[in-house]
Amino acid sequence: MVNYSCTAACRHCLYACSPTRSGGVAGSTADGAYIGKEMAREVCGLLREGGCGSVHIGGGEPFLNFEGLIGMVRELRRARISLEYVETNAYWAAGSNATEKLEILIREGVNSLCVSLDPYHAEYVPYEYPLLLAKRCEEAGMGCFLWQERFLPDLKRLDGKKVHRRAEMEAAIASGYIWNTARAYGIHFGGRAVNIETEYSPFRSVEALLGDASAGDPCRNLLSSGHFHVDMHGCFIPPGCTGIRLPLAEVIRGIPSGKYPVFEALYSDGVLSLYTLARKQGFTAGAKGYSSRCAFCFHLRRGLAGDGAGGGGYAELDREYYDEALRYYD
Ligand code: SF4
Ligand code: SF4
Repeated sequence: MVNYSCTAACRHCLYACSPTRSGGVAGSTADGAYIGKEMAREVCGLLREGGCGSVHIGGGEPFLNFEGLIGMVRELRRARISLEYVETNAYWAAGSNATEKLEILIREGVNSLCVSLDPYHAEYVPYEYPLLLAKRCEEAGMGCFLWQERFLPDLKRLDGKKVHRRAEMEAAIASGYIWNTARAYGIHFGGRAVNIETEYSPFRSVEALLGDASAGDPCRNLLSSGHFHVDMHGCFIPPGCTGIRLPLAEVIRGIPSGKYPVFEALYSDGVLSLYTLARKQGFTAGAKGYSSRCAFCFHLRRGLAGDGAGGGGYAELDREYYDEALRYYD
């Protein structure tokens, strides 16, 4: 993940990216915060050390800093890590230099783009843009796949030259398009998608959520390496459990005991243990309960992340993520 800033603020964004998301870079403007050459090189070295030989580049929106993107591509090539594809929401497809960018990428060895296409993205990027980018890719000889083309028949009920907000989508596609799209994707309700689950799923009390025998089970997927992400600061982001970040170097070489209490609580004894920790810090659970145990976990972590500069003193929690996850959903 070369950045956190994005031209969009999709309601399912697992990383809570947006135009106002800086990525936690003090003093930076949102779209200026991008992985630098040194960090790109360090991440590539760590990926090699950890046995990862193949990646994709995502964000945020990677094309917000084209030179930075080229720099990342070069560092991957230098480290002999293969690049499967670069993700983009296609916001730049109508620009006069779009084809030139594709030609530069091809010369740099990039051979595929993953271009977002679904009702959530179409709230921020006219859906003609991904289609235009796919056409330009074909003409330039760049591989391209639309993610996901099956949403096109629904989108074709709307004007593809414009973005459309919720009311228009509900009228043209279906009143339940938000939930239907989430189901079609099979999305994980983390990041900004916590709001989707909160809106559409029944709540359970904290007692009920913690009453299951599995409430104290360790959340071992926190260190799963099946499909993980590494952010612009060189931090490992667990698949699914976003909002927790650990330095990739420590994940590979050994996580110091006692340094990350939130991570340790979840990794050893699950959300039950995190609730104990949060209550000691004054956390009060919502009277209505939560839509799932993971939604409860999100709010526990948000409480522990604090509300001041530097957060609540837990280095593994990214305060900005929690704020941005709860913004833009309307
Ligand atoms: S899902 Fe992609 S396009 Fe949408 S806000 Fe997140 S990073 Fe941006
Ligand atoms: S309870 Fe928290 S740490 Fe465990 S799987 Fe859910 S989101 Fe991840």
